[in-house]
Amino acid sequence: MRLALIAHDRKKDDMLVLAGRHLPLLRQCVLVATGTTGGRLSRELALPVECVLSGPLGGDQQIGAMLVAGRVQALVFLRDPMTPQPHEPDINALVRACDVHNVPCATNLSTANMLLDFLAQNIPS
Ligand code: PGA
Repeated sequence: MRLALIAHDRKKDDMLVLAGRHLPLLRQCVLVATGTTGGRLSRELALPVECVLSGPLGGDQQIGAMLVAGRVQALVFLRDPMTPQPHEPDINALVRACDVHNVPCATNLSTANMLLDFLAQNIPS
């Protein structure tokens, strides 16, 4: 299973805590992440992560392209609802692509924990 991970700047620490809590699952998945998020996950948690471009440079679109091609099975996208983002259209397009293709998409920490707990119990090891 390929899992995509994206966190806006003020949510990156939350992503690190989330990933640290779900390390056994994440080590079983193929991980793809936007540039800065992926860099931190691989540096700070030693997770193998396929990094695409940073979100504002098109990374969300790259993950969206993988997702619509059936190459991403779930997305954790910790968005910052309090800060305007230069790539807002890309963010909306990615979340829309999840809805179009019925791909699970967690956009806050509570839902992300639920999704990862569910996956840990339900993906074959
Ligand atoms: P980043 O991109 O991981 O490169 O910061 C995330 C985003 O802002 O969409």
